[in-house]
Amino acid sequence: MRIVLLGAPGSGKGTQSQLLVKAHGVPQISTGDLLREAVAQGTALGVQAKVAMDAGKLVDDVLVLAMIRERLARPDAARGFILDGFPRNIAQAKALDALLAELRQPLERVVLMNLDLGLLFKRLTGRRVCQDCQRVFNIHPSPPGTLPHCAQCGDMPRLIQRPDDREEVIGKRLEVYEAQTKPLIEFYEKAGLLRVVDADSDVQIVFTRLQAAIQGR
Ligand code: AMP
Repeated sequence: MRIVLLGAPGSGKGTQSQLLVKAHGVPQISTGDLLREAVAQGTALGVQAKVAMDAGKLVDDVLVLAMIRERLARPDAARGFILDGFPRNIAQAKALDALLAELRQPLERVVLMNLDLGLLFKRLTGRRVCQDCQRVFNIHPSPPGTLPHCAQCGDMPRLIQRPDDREEVIGKRLEVYEAQTKPLIEFYEKAGLLRVVDADSDVQIVFTRLQAAIQGR
C-alpha cells in the first residue's frame, strides 16, 4: 500500500493513518510528527523548522524533501507507506513523483479527507495531546459531557495544546492549506489517483469509508 492522505489540518489524517497502520502493517510517515521530533531534540533541522511551524507556515521544501528522502529509504517503507501531511504543495508533489519513480514505488492512491471549514476550526481549537502517551483528544466532547479517557493514562490524562493549535495560528494554517495544498486536489485528480472521503463522522465510520476508497470502491 502506497498512499497519500490529503486534507486540511484537523481533517483526521493522523487518526486515520494510525488505524491504517494497524490494519495494513505499513508505516505512517507524518512530516509534522518528524518535524516536531526534530524540534523536541533540538537538531539543526528542528531549529530551522520551528520558526515556520510556530507561525503556521510551511517549512522550507528543501528541508522537508531531504527528510522524506531519508525516511522513505528506511527498510520498513519498502513494504509501503501512508504519507500524512506530505506533500503540502505542488513542488513537493512533483519531487515526490520523481523520488518514487527512482525507487520504482509509484503512488497507488491519494485520498482527500473532506471536512467543512467551520468543523476544522472547532476540531483544531479543541485538540489536545496527552503529555505522557502522545494520544490525541478533543475537549469538545462527543457525545457532550464525556470526559477524555486514555486507556494508558487513565481518566485524567495530562493534556497539552500544540503551540500551532492556538487560535491565532490556526487561521494561518488554514490559509496556507487553501493557497498551497488545495491545488493538489486537481493535480492528483488529473493523475487519476484521487478519491474523496467525507470526514465528518465518527472515527470508525470514516475509517470504513477510507478503506473502501483505498480499495477503489
Ligand atoms: P501537521 O502536524 O501536519 O499539521 O504539521 C505541523 C506543521 O509542520 C505545519 O504547520 C508546517 O509548519 C510543518 N509541516 C508539516 N508537514 C510539512 C510539509 N510537508 N511541508 C512543509 N511544512 C510542513
